Amino acid sequence: MDMVTIGSITEAPGAAGAALPEAPTAVVGAAGAGDTAPPRAPAARTVDAVKVYGRGETEVRALDGVTVDFEAGHFTAVMGPSGSGKSTLLHAVAGLDGLTSGRVFVGDTDLGTLGERRLTRLRRDRIGFVFQQFNLIPTLTALENIVLPLRLAGRRPDPVWVGEVVSRFGLDGRTGHRPPELSGGQQQRVAVARALANRPEIVLADEPTGNLDSRRGAEILSFLRQAVRELGRTVVMVTHDPVAASYADRAVFLADGRIVDELRDPTSDSVLDAMRVLGG
Ligand code: ADP
Ligand code: MG
Repeated sequence: MDMVTIGSITEAPGAAGAALPEAPTAVVGAAGAGDTAPPRAPAARTVDAVKVYGRGETEVRALDGVTVDFEAGHFTAVMGPSGSGKSTLLHAVAGLDGLTSGRVFVGDTDLGTLGERRLTRLRRDRIGFVFQQFNLIPTLTALENIVLPLRLAGRRPDPVWVGEVVSRFGLDGRTGHRPPELSGGQQQRVAVARALANRPEIVLADEPTGNLDSRRGAEILSFLRQAVRELGRTVVMVTHDPVAASYADRAVFLADGRIVDELRDPTSDSVLDAMRVLGG
């Protein structure tokens, strides 16, 4: 398999900064008209993923046979009512939580075949995760937070890449500030920058706008979209907000642990319609 990881494409020295405006157009093309670009391996996928919590009377099938591809270089929204399994799916793809049965792949790697140490390394090297609650370390500066996962991994941050992410996220004047000195919107920008710092193959964001007002939320959504369009990343975002989903290239709908619908190039109206049909 010639798995074309995004990471290796951007490996060329200096490419991160210089080539940005032009380079990603191939990625953009893939979003709208899949027929113009050669098919790429999905950044991640699940095959018949089942996750059962508890047993007997209290058993919950959080995932009930989910087979889904998350295309590389695309922005996918995962939608569905509360309790439909969105977070469980995201955690499974991130290798944060194992499945009861079925398989999860990141690129060509079957997470079920990895022991704890290799799973930890995969999470560190190939995945970025954004939480609803930011989860920043309050005593570290913004920049220290951004590079913390790399430092913990004993890796040297690529200053060109990190600088690029920081300035694209409008954090240039804020890198020395600690989270309590930043607004919620700025804190979430730091958290998204942290998720991007290792140039992950896939960024997984669980309701990243859930704690923000609509203006700050729109800002984060634009940055996530930029991470796909201009920085060549793959983003999967859980949301229950139709406006948030409209920033994505595709929306998949979960209900009771199953994929029940999907939309290409969703608009907030088409998402609302789909939700109505699904009886949300
Ligand atoms: P969503 O993110 O769509 O709101 P979740 O994936 O968090 O949904 O949860 C799906 C279902 O699994 C829910 O019924 C939830 O109560 C249950 N669930 C999630 N995590 C656990 C857990 N650790 N233990 C028991 N049940 C859980
Ligand atoms: Mg959730």
